[in-house]
Amino acid sequence: MNRENIASVPEDAVKVVKFGGSSLADAEHFRMVQNIITAEPSRRYVIPSAPGKRFKEDDKVTDLLYKCYEVASDREELKKVFARVIERYELIIKGLGLTLDLTEEYEQVQRAIRHHAGRDYAASRGEYLNGIILANLLGYDFIDAAEVIRFSDNGAFDGELTNEILAKALKEHTHAVIPGFYGSMPNGTVKTFSRGGSDITGSIVARAAEATIYENWTDVSGFLMADPRIIDDPRPIEVITYKELRELSYMGATVLHQDSIFPVRFAGIPINIRNTNAPECAGTMIVPTTDDLKSIITGIAGKTGFSVINIEKDMMNSELGFGRRVLAVLEKENVSFEHLPSGIDTMSIIVSTSDIAPCRQHVIDEICRAVEPEFISIEDDLALIAVVGRGMVKAKGTAAKLFKACAGADINIRMIDQGSSEFNIIIGVEAKDFERAQKAIYAEFVK
Ligand code: ASP
Repeated sequence: MNRENIASVPEDAVKVVKFGGSSLADAEHFRMVQNIITAEPSRRYVIPSAPGKRFKEDDKVTDLLYKCYEVASDREELKKVFARVIERYELIIKGLGLTLDLTEEYEQVQRAIRHHAGRDYAASRGEYLNGIILANLLGYDFIDAAEVIRFSDNGAFDGELTNEILAKALKEHTHAVIPGFYGSMPNGTVKTFSRGGSDITGSIVARAAEATIYENWTDVSGFLMADPRIIDDPRPIEVITYKELRELSYMGATVLHQDSIFPVRFAGIPINIRNTNAPECAGTMIVPTTDDLKSIITGIAGKTGFSVINIEKDMMNSELGFGRRVLAVLEKENVSFEHLPSGIDTMSIIVSTSDIAPCRQHVIDEICRAVEPEFISIEDDLALIAVVGRGMVKAKGTAAKLFKACAGADINIRMIDQGSSEFNIIIGVEAKDFERAQKAIYAEFVK
């Protein structure tokens, strides 16, 4: 699907719209959200986050609620922190001129937190209360996420059970607000996703509603081709595939919770990242596949904080089980590897520096015992940069361009890894070259 197809979405389409915390931080933003929703009758299912920050030093309501949980045993302290939560909601209710009275709800939440309802329960009330207000403002039904989003006993999200229950519930409510971030365990206790998890709820609801599109409204106009803290004014990404996004998010590009991709991807539903503060911007469209191939690369992302374990041994390539024995050492220490570039007699394992830190010497000793290498070392301060683009699959000379950019900036490439899918090249550079490398690559491919 491309932009033109999306633009011709029929008016009876079902849109699932999720609004992030900054889009619901105060009454003024609630109004903007209301205008966005009422502008299109297809925006029938709404997923709110909890109120976020109104200004830089402000607290997110979710953080205040975690604090409530921490001070739960001190009645006075709990009252004090919870009063700040109440204040946030009351400002919104009054600012919108609603006649909604949440006194009972506030009391019940405080009581439950005091009576050990749990950390997840406390945090989830941010979305729960915001959902009640938003449903009241819109005149939509309210569906408690605890009734329709289900986790298994082991704490894993139960996608199939949820889809069944949720799809049924949505058939009974043509217009509904479903709070993000939480669901419930088989025993009824509330469980949340990880932070930023309302994105996941939106995606789950989109799948169950068989939505035409999942709109994710936030405070930026979509994804940018590079990190704006490193590259001046990077170009926005108009269309990106799920696979490309996955690579970029894994490497640190954040806008959307990583796990939110799966339910909609499974169902082939596109996600549109939009800006509540600039609804006229088309934002970024995330699609299953596209023939839109305007540029070779779609985006650049990078991460620092990696170490490389270098192992050398003559005739390593013919020693059966060599790799397995090395990796078994890491597995035993609970260290997962990120990349595994290897030569005939060399093997390099890229791991996160913080993961390897507590067991560094032990890992070296164990690898020595397992495979008796001629040389082994661990080097730190490695940064990884991913250059991602579906356009690379057919283009020739992409790697050459990448090398040229780095060589031109006098940057030594320590590692290169290109997956067989050919839409992603990852290079390792020294941490000191991290930003310069991204600037050089961006300039080579984009400007
Ligand atoms: N309110 C939760 C958080 O701050 C979830 C979300 O906003 O998506 O992490």
